[in-house]
Order: sequence, then structure tokens, then C-alpha cells
Amino acid sequence: MSIKRVDLATLTTWIDGLTKKERVIGVQAKGDRFAFGPLARAADLRLDYDVTILPPKTFFQPPKETLMSFNKTSGYQSVVEDKPFVLFGVHPYDMAAILQMDEIFSQGTYDVHYMTRRKNATIVVVDVYRVSPNVFAGSMGTSHIEDGYDILITKIGDDYLVDGKTMSGKSLMLGLVAAPDASESWIEQRKMVWEYNKQRLRKHDLKVPPSKWPKLLEEGYDNPIWEERANLCYSCGSCVLVCPTCYCFDVRDETNWDLSSGERIRVWDGCMLTDFATVAGNHNFRKDKSARFRHRYLRKGKYVPTKIGGQIACVGCGRCVTACTANIANPVEVMNRLAEGE
Ligand code: SF4
Ligand code: SF4
Repeated sequence: MSIKRVDLATLTTWIDGLTKKERVIGVQAKGDRFAFGPLARAADLRLDYDVTILPPKTFFQPPKETLMSFNKTSGYQSVVEDKPFVLFGVHPYDMAAILQMDEIFSQGTYDVHYMTRRKNATIVVVDVYRVSPNVFAGSMGTSHIEDGYDILITKIGDDYLVDGKTMSGKSLMLGLVAAPDASESWIEQRKMVWEYNKQRLRKHDLKVPPSKWPKLLEEGYDNPIWEERANLCYSCGSCVLVCPTCYCFDVRDETNWDLSSGERIRVWDGCMLTDFATVAGNHNFRKDKSARFRHRYLRKGKYVPTKIGGQIACVGCGRCVTACTANIANPVEVMNRLAEGE
């Protein structure tokens, strides 16, 4: 049986053991907020976090990465990071976002850089037990997840249900072999946690189901809300850079001072940034702020869903709401307004 009931002491010993054997990335405190980072010991892990500043996508698509190095004499060489790691403490909405990214990066031109990191990752999801102020995952169907992870941990009372789903998850759980198997009735209690979280993770009241977003956005193309909100926008790009489902990037060559060697790098880019749509000849095909503001929504609610079987590219993490100093980036407010037909 690969579903264990584990007390805190056993969980701590197990995680300490993992940190000695594996490269573990886990959630830790950063001031009064939380961030994923290399984990040295279980005592630093914070499974009670509300939301991380940046999503775990940074470990699959880093803000800056080298794609290849080149040299005038020896030619070029691909650079692919190929090291196994354990990503510990991912919330269900972020796991849902990773699964979307998997589809994006594996269809069409297979992205070897993203997919190699992804294949090297064993992901431990933890059901949310502290709710962040701006989350609305309960409205987006991502407050819990039943597939796609390697291990799922759910806190029930003082103990933890640890559920190994895949071979790599089950193999990590060998360190829990002495812990008792979870009883059927205890496993049933997890459903109550999921139901409870569906209600709790709704800090903003979305009045329109995600399935209606594509049509609403199509009909709302000329809605005055784009201009009205864009007038307050600083084009800082924070809302897209913190988003777990945004994946746009820029590729450029950096040549060394010797003028005979260098690197091709990939860096994050974002459609809310002024120069995102600047092309050759210094032509910017989306230079109006309102067009960029609208594009962000069309991409999340219409264009990306067309590519990935109708899934909306917003998982309701609420990070954009927190990150936007102008207080205009909340998808719930925009979609509710479009639904009112204003
Ligand atoms: S659009 Fe905002 S709430 Fe939705 S997934 Fe992105 S950051 Fe989270
Ligand atoms: S975070 Fe707010 S101000 Fe910055 S680009 Fe996004 S909507 Fe505009």
C-alpha cells in the first residue's frame, strides 16, 4: 500500500533523510513571505505557507538560462540541465499550472530544456492548510488535484496522509515503510479537506464559470474596461512575471569580449511590458497599453485554452492581485465586469 498515515515526528525524520540523499527544493520563509529554494533540513520546510512569491515554474523555466554556448573554433554546444531533484510542497493550483506548462512545452516544437528538467523532477504536492488573501482557486477548479503529482500530502488533524502516486513517488516513500497504512475511513476524510478547501480558497467571488471565459472575452473585445483599467497600468509586467501559467520568453545571443565565443540565453518576457511586441524596424504591433491589457486576458481565457483542450490559463493563485501596485490586475474583477456586459 502506498498511502501512509504519518505523524509529525516521522514526517520530519523522513524529510531530513531525503535532504541528505536528494537535491530537495522546498518552501521556506523569506521575511514574512514564502519562497521555494534549496532545502538543507526538514526544520526549514514550511508546509503551512499560504502562497509563494514566485511559482515553482522557476525550476522548470528559470528566469534566465543558457540554451547553448558557442565558440568560433569549436562550434556550438547545447546546454541542457539534467539533474534529478525533488520539488517539495507544491500547492494544487501550482501543480495544475505545471501540468498546463507540460502541454505547452511538449506540443509542437518539443522544448528539450523545459522537458528535461520536468522529467528530472519528483513533485510532492501538499494540500493547502493556510489560505492566502487573494486566492480564488476554489472558483477555477484547482483548489485540489487528484492526478499529475508524484506524492500528495494532506494534513488531517495532527497527522499527515502521504499518498504515493507514481513509481518515483513510491520510491521516495521507501523511507516511510514502517509507518502504518492509512485506513479507508481516514482516506475518506481527505475528501472532506478537498471540499472544505473548495469553499475556503475563494477570496474573490467569481460570478462566471471559467468555461464561459472564451465567449465573454470574444464578445467583450471592445468593452471600455480595457481602456479604463489600462489608464492606471504602469506596464511593470509584475502580473505576468509572477503568474504560474505565463511562459513567454525572449532568446538572445550574448557574445564575450573576445568576440569569438558566447552564449545563447533565454530570459522571461511578458506581454504587459512595453517592448514585448517590438519587432524589426522598431515597429511595435501592440504599443497601446489597453491593447496589452486586453491581450493578457485574451491569452489566458481564449488563446491558450484553444491550445490545451479548453483549460483556462489562470489557476486562481492570486499572485497577480497581490503583485499589482495599481490594483487593477485581478482576473475575477475583470471577468465579473465582462459578465455584466458593461
Ligand atoms: S492570472 Fe493571476 S491569479 Fe491567475 S494564475 Fe496568473 S497570477 Fe494566478
Ligand atoms: S502588475 Fe498591474 S500595473 Fe503592472 S503591468 Fe500588471 S496590470 Fe499593469
